[in-house]
Amino acid sequence: MSDDTRLIHAGKHAEPLARTVGPPIQKGSTVLLPNAAALYDDANHLTYGRAGLSAQACLQDALATLEGADGVTLYPSGIAAISGAMLALLGAGDEVLVVDNVYKPVRRFCDSVLKRFGVTVSYFDPATAPDRLVGEASDAVRMILLESPGSLSFEMQDVPAIAALAKARGILTAIDNTWAAGILFRPLDHGVDVSIQALTKYVGGHSDVFMGSAAARDPAVVRRLADGINHMGWAVSGEDAYAILRGLRTLPVRMERQGASGLRVAAWLRDQPEVAALFHPALPGCPDHALWARDFKGACGLFGFALRPAPEAAVDAFLDALTVFGLGFSWGGFESLAISCDPQLKPRRFPKDYGGPLIRLHVGLEDPDDLIADLRAGLDAYARLAV
Ligand SMILES: *Cc1c(COP(=O)(O)O)cnc(C)c1O
Repeated sequence: MSDDTRLIHAGKHAEPLARTVGPPIQKGSTVLLPNAAALYDDANHLTYGRAGLSAQACLQDALATLEGADGVTLYPSGIAAISGAMLALLGAGDEVLVVDNVYKPVRRFCDSVLKRFGVTVSYFDPATAPDRLVGEASDAVRMILLESPGSLSFEMQDVPAIAALAKARGILTAIDNTWAAGILFRPLDHGVDVSIQALTKYVGGHSDVFMGSAAARDPAVVRRLADGINHMGWAVSGEDAYAILRGLRTLPVRMERQGASGLRVAAWLRDQPEVAALFHPALPGCPDHALWARDFKGACGLFGFALRPAPEAAVDAFLDALTVFGLGFSWGGFESLAISCDPQLKPRRFPKDYGGPLIRLHVGLEDPDDLIADLRAGLDAYARLAV
């Protein structure tokens, strides 16, 4: 054969891969099939790389174990997982009920895309009683989308009650379970049909990879989600799947440490004179603590608090004085972060008075004493400008 041909076929591994602890990161769009009959035998052969190779398959397997699921689909981001699940399960003429404390980009997707495709979107107050929510749902309602606790203002819903009532009416339930990361709360065990996560946050854990997942048990739902991936053409890379799987290995220990540190910081904050209210469902006395205590087995490091009302300059001074906390969106990584929330609350249908400017903290793996000292310095800067 000529050099051209030999170069195309040279250097191919013929031996089985060495068995490492993690999966091989295979790169490939083309998958070579063993014979002509296999070309169109999708049931028994992986025929194309877009469906994911070894690292993606291992991650799906591990996530199925985490979530107690029969099928897990992977998406290139958390928001893609939520939009993907909705596109796969909803159609024109359907109505979806979305909790009002939902992650803001989800609201944007619902209002600009779902509505354009003929899906009616209705928001409900997170405090709505489950029997009222489901009892008053129109016959067009096909899905209820929950987020509990909400990742900005931390209201919870009675998820098992809503799931049971919805099931009796043939309504699907889906939840953004990023706060619990599939480890603090397992929605599928509580009757929810689809558990969605931004793996970008705690499962990845290192603030450097985007990915999302949707997990389900019902074979028909699993099938619809998988078809949705195929129809939309979504794919995640082997490198990214590997990185998320690596994060998953240490999820329980990071979560335990960050949850405990977060609770310590939150309890300290509650006693500070500049703080009007704490929003951490795992802290006794906080809103929805009873729901958390009944259904959850731990806390992550994400919670909120309200400063006493003060001019915006004082709130900015608080944030600008922080040096251990970074200012940044996202959370679930190893690092502590802070943001002000009020601009994100504006589009809500059921506005609520949180008692003052709402701040969200993500407590990372730093020593909580250093975080508390940093917050004290921030509160001092706030107090100088608060009237
Ligand atoms: C970050 C986040 C998402 C979206 O994840 P991306 O990977 O950034 O798209 C969805 N839900 C919640 C609650 C989040 O915090």
